[in-house]
Amino acid sequence: MRVLTVEDEKRMAGLLKKGLEEENHSVTLAHDGPAGLEMAELYEFDAIVLDIMLPGIDGFEVARRLRRNRNQTPILILTARDAVPDVVKGLDVGADDYLTKPFAFDEFLARLRSVARRGSVPRPTRLQVADLTLDPAARQVRRGDQEIHLTPTEYRLLDFLIRRAGRVVSRSAIVEAVWGFDQEVEENTLDAFVRLLRSKVDLGFRQKLIHTVRGVGYTVRGNSKT
Ligand code: CA
Repeated sequence: MRVLTVEDEKRMAGLLKKGLEEENHSVTLAHDGPAGLEMAELYEFDAIVLDIMLPGIDGFEVARRLRRNRNQTPILILTARDAVPDVVKGLDVGADDYLTKPFAFDEFLARLRSVARRGSVPRPTRLQVADLTLDPAARQVRRGDQEIHLTPTEYRLLDFLIRRAGRVVSRSAIVEAVWGFDQEVEENTLDAFVRLLRSKVDLGFRQKLIHTVRGVGYTVRGNSKT
């Protein structure tokens, strides 16, 4: 596939190009935000690998502008570990997945194939599971026709889960995405927030949407099979 790699760190850019070319992909490199944006708008790519910390325009802004211009090329964000809390922001502006540096090249290839396969299907502006909807643009959550008011942390938690609806998400992945790597999060903090979220999203509804997967984590899904 044709891959645009937007990465200012020369060594990293070189490694990505070499690795991708060894897998028979064709790689175009851009070393700053404006160049990346220009390449993405001028040429067709199957996927864009996008660093966040870039000279000129950062990766978030590149993704936001592409989506605003109706460019639906799949985007895989590469981010430094300490920027993980920003990942939700990256997904909100239209990126499809993210990977934290340093990463194993095999995982990078697998993620890239996966975002490219999902391809240029226009992303729904609203995320929905059963009658639960989350509108990232308005930061609005509804169950049926009832609006649900969430605190910022509850919102990040639900956002992270609903974007992975139907998949089991590990406790550590949730903690990283919602609180970040650097935060000391007590083991039971996540459970406490899930309880709060359930009390707002599921309490009083016959169909429960937030499910515990014992020993692993949580999942949001519409049916109650476990
Ligand atoms: Ca960078």
